[in-house]
Amino acid sequence: MTLSRVGVVGAGQMGCGIAQIAAVAGFDVLLTDIDGAIVADGLATIAASLDRQIRGGAVDAADRDAILGRVSTSTRLSDHSDAGLVIESAVESFEIKAEIFRQLDDFCPAATILASNTSSISITRLGAAGRRPQRVVGMHFMNPVQVMRLVEVVRGLDTAAATVDAVCDVARRMGKVPVTCADHPGFVSNRLLMPMINEAVFAVAEQVATPEAVDEIMSLGMNHPMGPLALADLIGLDNCLAVMRALHAELGDPKYRPCPLLVRMVDAGRLGRKTGRGFFAYPED
Ligand code: NAD
Repeated sequence: MTLSRVGVVGAGQMGCGIAQIAAVAGFDVLLTDIDGAIVADGLATIAASLDRQIRGGAVDAADRDAILGRVSTSTRLSDHSDAGLVIESAVESFEIKAEIFRQLDDFCPAATILASNTSSISITRLGAAGRRPQRVVGMHFMNPVQVMRLVEVVRGLDTAAATVDAVCDVARRMGKVPVTCADHPGFVSNRLLMPMINEAVFAVAEQVATPEAVDEIMSLGMNHPMGPLALADLIGLDNCLAVMRALHAELGDPKYRPCPLLVRMVDAGRLGRKTGRGFFAYPED
């Protein structure tokens, strides 16, 4: 058990990105998900993304095979038993994440750090689901993981200072800038970002402007690199709704109520880029 081995649970868009940057940084990586076809797709996604990084000059072509050789896959959580750090990045559901944490608690040595990439679920609650709350921490990566420099490191009430220091060190080894914050609904990033996205959805629902106009106003007027609705499509509207629901439930302020249009979009399966349709259409994805 050493911090040269990193486990990633969940081979979705974030989990693949985390596995990729960990392998580029020299860690041996095990990527797991519930289904063999999903992890196979994940590996293909990582290879394609790595090739884009090589074309862009961010990664040396000579390192390609060694980087991919450091990523292995499995469908068994028990295979994470020799990881020094496991980063959970499964769907945004407390029940699913808590069950993953309970199982990892059984399979991994007591010293293994269990991190979650959750956007909104309390790290303290996830820590309380197992027997090592002092070694449970939030490692909130930004999307796209390969590009964004921040990792928001979230301290649960019982997270040990040594755990925070260890994951900050890992984040730096991955070329990221860790910034710490306390375990409070939405942390810092989503407490500020998601109400803006939700308000953009209200503007569309109330026919103040089209999605194109809302995004153009925010990109050109506020110098945001992309508009809030394109960003919501990238993040996944299911993730956005989960964060708004957590903010609303935990802070109790009506200003955090999710826009009904956001709820309807998720009901309809229009989740953004990952389903080919959200506020905008992505036929090529
Ligand atoms: P995604 O839908 O692309 O992937 C989720 C993956 O979790 C899927 O591959 C699914 O098969 C897998 N999964 C479901 N149940 C599982 C289980 N029991 N065990 C293992 N894997 C399981 O979602 P995503 O956008 O990659 O988000 C993953 C996490 O990252 C969420 O907690 C989300 O809030 C967080 N996050 C997302 C973003 C973003 O912009 N999308 C940014 C930061 C953090």
